[in-house]
Amino acid sequence: MNATHHHQRAAEQSPGPSHFAGNVEMDNVVLKVNNLKTYFFTRRGVVRAVDGVSFDLKKGECLCLDGESGCGKTVTALSILGLIDSPPGRIVCGQINYDGLDLVQCSSRQLRKIRGNDIAIVFQEAQSALNPVLTVGDQIIEQIKLHRPLNYKEARRRAVELLAEMGIPSVERVMNYYPHQLSGGMKQRALIAMSLSCDPKILIADEPTTAVDVTIKAQILDTFRELKAKRQMSLLFITHDLAVVAEIGDRAVVMYGGKDVETAPVSEIISNPKHPYTAGLIACLPDVSKATDKLASIPGTTPDPLEMPPGCAFHPRCDRAMAICSQQQPPRVAVSGEHKVSCHLYG
Ligand code: SF4
Repeated sequence: MNATHHHQRAAEQSPGPSHFAGNVEMDNVVLKVNNLKTYFFTRRGVVRAVDGVSFDLKKGECLCLDGESGCGKTVTALSILGLIDSPPGRIVCGQINYDGLDLVQCSSRQLRKIRGNDIAIVFQEAQSALNPVLTVGDQIIEQIKLHRPLNYKEARRRAVELLAEMGIPSVERVMNYYPHQLSGGMKQRALIAMSLSCDPKILIADEPTTAVDVTIKAQILDTFRELKAKRQMSLLFITHDLAVVAEIGDRAVVMYGGKDVETAPVSEIISNPKHPYTAGLIACLPDVSKATDKLASIPGTTPDPLEMPPGCAFHPRCDRAMAICSQQQPPRVAVSGEHKVSCHLYG
């Protein structure tokens, strides 16, 4: 069945927003974020948390959003899902195209439906995302029944399948466990299973490896890799850790000060970074050949979001800054095929 037929049939069965018969085929692109700006209007001033971000997410790829905390990664994800608290937050500009829809223009009812059927998120804190007074099994069953017209028995069978897919041993036993009886890694995997209950086309993972140790981190990354391969799912993976990007990403978007400053295939970002900020992040990666406990870091601190430096927001920390850098924002230029960078050193 071709894509057009699929859309037509889906639209006949359910005219809901997640099955909108979009007539623009976006060439393998499942989500297109264009010049997104999400601001927070606070008493102290306007926080431009996301300030002109653009990227495409393709079918079956893992796209990493990378950058230090406060650069706008999570706000980008929450904007896609329509989960920005308003007030004080608001998407002031841009488009988020998904399946023929602009999510920025969708009603909260439409967005709820999309969150339930098409785009899911795994949050960083598995501990607080699980309900402590319900068993893991009951929580997954509840989610499945929310999204699928299944009876209890069928939903339970599906929950067992999902936990098994996550590589959880003794699944039947784990179904009856309460969250506090699970290890950190098991909790995170139970949460991923829950997010898969609607069979999403896009899974957003927000720093899923931040609060776990190295072994668990490797297991969780394996889980995501397998999911992507098996389900041909698109992953938007948010992390501050370039080492994680190198492990799991196909392409990466490096963010700084609410903007995407460099986008490229991961192998190219790592071997040939163009933006001085990206180069700085790479220079900070721990070198296993040198025995040192000290982690390098880029000099200076991330900018105060209420007082973003003019021009290129990175200029106070950049050792290659020129006069123009504090005066004009650099345009986004293509340095080669899929490699784009916003820096006055290029173009
Ligand atoms: Fe550095 Fe200027 Fe490039 Fe910004 S635009 S990263 S300040 S060289």
